[in-house]
Amino acid sequence: MPPRDRSRKITKAARDLLPGGVDSPVRAFSAVGGEPIVVAYGKGSRIWDADSNEYVDWVGSWGPLILGHAHPAVVEIIQRAAERGTSYGATTELEVELARIICGAVPSVEQIRFVSSGTEATMSAVRVARAFTGRDKILKFEGCYHGHSDGLLAKTGSGVATLSLPDSAGVPASFTAETLVSPFNDRDAVERLFAAHDGAIAAVIVEPVAANMGLVPPDAGFLQFLREITERNDTVLIFDEVITGFRLAYGGAQMYYGVVPDMTCLGKIIGGGLPVGAYGGRREIMQMVAPAGPVYQAGTLSGNPLAMAAGIVTLRALTNEGIYRGLDEMGARLAEGLRNAAREAECENVTVAQLGSMLTVFFAQEAPRDYTTAKGADAERYARFFRAMLDAGVYLPPSQYEVMMCGLAHQQRDFDETLAAARLAFVAAR
Ligand SMILES: *Cc1c(COP(=O)(O)O)cnc(C)c1O
Repeated sequence: MPPRDRSRKITKAARDLLPGGVDSPVRAFSAVGGEPIVVAYGKGSRIWDADSNEYVDWVGSWGPLILGHAHPAVVEIIQRAAERGTSYGATTELEVELARIICGAVPSVEQIRFVSSGTEATMSAVRVARAFTGRDKILKFEGCYHGHSDGLLAKTGSGVATLSLPDSAGVPASFTAETLVSPFNDRDAVERLFAAHDGAIAAVIVEPVAANMGLVPPDAGFLQFLREITERNDTVLIFDEVITGFRLAYGGAQMYYGVVPDMTCLGKIIGGGLPVGAYGGRREIMQMVAPAGPVYQAGTLSGNPLAMAAGIVTLRALTNEGIYRGLDEMGARLAEGLRNAAREAECENVTVAQLGSMLTVFFAQEAPRDYTTAKGADAERYARFFRAMLDAGVYLPPSQYEVMMCGLAHQQRDFDETLAAARLAFVAAR
């Protein structure tokens, strides 16, 4: 195991000053054990910890870093923007430019509002959908994560799944009383909820490809079904594309599957690694947002010029010919390599789920198709696999319920080193 003395010292101080030593729960490595890494810097596909140990990074800051760490064009534009001031609390041309790019790329988005996180984006989109329909109830899916606003913290994925919390403490039952929950990929359950709450459901919010219970793609036709049933019931369909936007395809999962929702939430990639979120949709719906309409939503740092600049450069880099084909091939190659490594290690009950540049190694016999089956995967074996990979210099998501991300910075030697490490790590996880 590589030396981690300095990291350990920082972690100790962090535990004294920050709850659990972190600012976001999964960073604490509770699900996989061992000492959490303390990152000193990153470049391209790699990060270095506080003891100068090098890791191949398949987390990519949980999604934003599709161009890799410290991409020269992104760094340069942030530096140039910073020299002109870091925030004004007034409109800039950068916001208009990023809005133009996103509205041109994502089919459902005619107008957009920038915020500072994905959590704000989903929370605000739900508020707008309620105002637009004059209804209160929303329908979400088990294992889908939409940030940590009170009403959306019901049967959620991501860190809540990792920590095996039923739901968060501190959320009054009355706050989630308007939140209906269905299993993912379960048409009958959705139909039953619509029948039981006829004319009362303002919005259906869904991760079109679930990526916060590990990777769980929609069954064939499931998104079309959601489109039809929401249309029939005058319910707003919200795609939470905070991960999938500009990752699965330039126009997101809605482009990939050819299903256009009424509203879309974005984040992660569109800020190029800076704090950002956005929600958008049909013009008549977005006209509900103040000051155009009666729904209040605001932000001191919304449309922050550094985040807008980093986002513009990142999205421009993704317009090059063949980018998404290349990312798909990378994902498929890594998945195939991991499956072979498991086979060579005679490690059974391993399923690698993959779609585009997103992957999850499930220690399960079959790929999960909902939260119940995802929760059936063996967390203890994943933990052993994770720790062996980390010791060999490969950084995977420290939870089976988060996805690995390929990016444009990953090189052949990242694949070679990862798969060589995996052959041994799968032995450790047998
Ligand atoms: C990350 C994520 C969010 C929350 O975004 P934050 O910027 O962390 O608040 C919401 N929805 C999905 C699908 C996400 O993956």
